[in-house]
Amino acid sequence: MSEALPAAVFNFINFATVMSPSEIDYKALLQVIGQWVSVVLGIYLLVLIILRVSGLYRIDRCPNCDGELKRAQRTTADRLLKSLSFNILSLKRYRCYMCYWEGPALQIREM
Ligand SMILES: [Zn+2]
Repeated sequence: MSEALPAAVFNFINFATVMSPSEIDYKALLQVIGQWVSVVLGIYLLVLIILRVSGLYRIDRCPNCDGELKRAQRTTADRLLKSLSFNILSLKRYRCYMCYWEGPALQIREM
């Protein structure tokens, strides 16, 4: 049955159940963790790219009053978010001059 499982899952179960702490092969354990991290990172990147390509995160009018939006200065949080998305999502901050709404850095759609 264990042969049917992917190697990473089998190794993980092996570490969790069979081996005592002194018997753990740390190099192999790191490899297993590395595999999981790269899978999660891969999915994360894929989602970011899909978001970017689809343009779902974009707005072109004020969500509050449908007024015209102007660029506003980025905050530290905006810059942090941009770094966290590996600059894939170009996050910008906008302000509405009709109702004073200020937006969390969504990119305006190019008209
Ligand atoms: Zn507005």
